Parts: sequence; structure tokens; C-alpha cells
Amino acid sequence: SAVANPTRAAREDTPRSPQAGAPVVRLHDVHKSFGALKVLDGVSLDVGPGEVAAIIGQSGSGKSTALRCINALETIQQGTIHVCGHAIHDPQLDRRALRRDVGIVFQSYNLFPHLTAEQNIMLAPTCVKGMTKAQARELAREVLSHVGLAEKAEHYPEQLSGGQQQRVAIARSLAMRPKLMLFDEVTSALDPQLTGEVLKVMENLAREGMTMILVTHEMAFARKVASKVVYMHRGRVWETGTGAMLDDPQTPELRAFIGNGL
Ligand code: ADP
Ligand code: MG
Repeated sequence: SAVANPTRAAREDTPRSPQAGAPVVRLHDVHKSFGALKVLDGVSLDVGPGEVAAIIGQSGSGKSTALRCINALETIQQGTIHVCGHAIHDPQLDRRALRRDVGIVFQSYNLFPHLTAEQNIMLAPTCVKGMTKAQARELAREVLSHVGLAEKAEHYPEQLSGGQQQRVAIARSLAMRPKLMLFDEVTSALDPQLTGEVLKVMENLAREGMTMILVTHEMAFARKVASKVVYMHRGRVWETGTGAMLDDPQTPELRAFIGNGL
């Protein structure tokens, strides 16, 4: 509950006060082009500790690019990005240190097919963090039970449903103990039933106080779970607010996007 989790309680009581702590993510006037194509046109965004930000918007509006910039998978031409104390725009950025703090999960699970669920999860902790196999296996079991898949540890990806594979991919990220999780349309390839089980895992993470930014088409989920909804249009933050914003859009573009008509 909110009372049992100080991070979460602080956020809910004082969502925008400076006492809530420095933002985990701060984008300031970020510009990004691919050649002549301007994809991010002055994006500014703050995400505080324990916040869940849902980025919505039509295809091509720059949502994935924004996430990739936050995780230093793209370089920006103008502006600043700070993530968990790392200056992402700085050419001297320590990418290894950033990777330890930020987990990212994509629509495609990218699990190794020749490794079991557990072995997929053990890979990074043993290779990157230098854990022993025994330690990594214990950790893998722990994060697998966290996503409700304790009994699937020795299954190979092809023996798992799409939703289960995506939960393994989330568990694999959690094994690195990230301070921030990024999700890019992680349920888009799943049918509705499997979507629900993945959203449930993300909702539990949110409740535990994990700071998260997710790109999603799941409006009901954004309304319910996100503390901040960010509507992107043509590379800009067009409208931002709480989930309630979706019930009362202020711009014709957002109104059209959520299907209330113009
Ligand atoms: P969204 O995730 O909102 O659908 P993206 O951020 O993926 O949007 O893409 C925004 C725009 O940038 C699109 O027009 C897309 O074609 C273009 N784009 C994305 N990545 C690249 C790239 N690596 N090279 C060139 N254009 C790109
Ligand atoms: Mg995208």
C-alpha cells in the first residue's frame, strides 16, 4: 500500500514539490533529427522518483526515439538529458554505469532461444556483475517468482507463451536492479489475454515504487497506473497531465487521438 512504501507515499502526497527529490529523469529542450527529419522538437519532461510516466501518441510522433535518447541509444543535437545522475548528452557519458541503472524492455523479447528462462536471466549478472552461477541462479529464481513464473525457470522460450516470454524479459531487466525501467510497447505483439498478464506485472512494479517510463497504446492502463501521461505529437510534448487528462483533452489533436472526435 501507499503507506507501506515511503517512496510512493511521498510522490502521491507531494507530486510536484521539490521535497519529493531530484527527478530521476529530466529532459530539457531536447532536439533530435535523422538527417532532414526532425523527430524530437524541443522535448522537456521530468519524471520523479517512483513516478510512472506513460507516453502516448500516434505512430511516428517520436515516442520510441525519446525513450532511446533517454537510454543513450541515440545521440541528441540540442538540449540536455539527465538520468539517475548521468548526463546523457555528455560525450564522456559512462555507458556501463548508465546500463546498470536503467533497464529497457522492447516489443520483441530478444530472449536467447537456446537458453532456459533462468539461463537467459543469469547471463548479465554473471558476465557484467561478476556473480557466481549459484548467486545468479538464486537471483534468477527470485525475479522469476516476482513476475509469477517461478515454475518456468527451466523452460526454453519456445515452450513459453508470448506473455510469459515478455515477463521473462522483464525479469531479466529486474535482475540488474535498475533504478529506472523503460518499456516500449511491450504488449503490442500480444493478444489481449496475454497483454493483461504483462500489464499486471508492470502494475505491481509501479505499486512497489519503481520509476518507469512506458510507451503504450493501452489507454486504460495509462489512465489507471500512470502518475503522468505525456501525449506526444509531431515530436513535441503536446499535452501532459495525470490520467484524468484522457477524460478531458485540451487539444483537438489529443481529442482526435483518443477517439472522442473533433
Ligand atoms: P513512434 O515510436 O512514436 O512511432 P519513432 O520515434 O519510432 O516514433 O519515429 C519517429 C520518426 O523518426 C518516424 O518518422 C521514424 O520513421 C523516424 N525514425 C526513427 N528512427 C529512425 C532512424 N534510425 N533513422 C531514420 N529515421 C528514423
Ligand atoms: Mg515506437
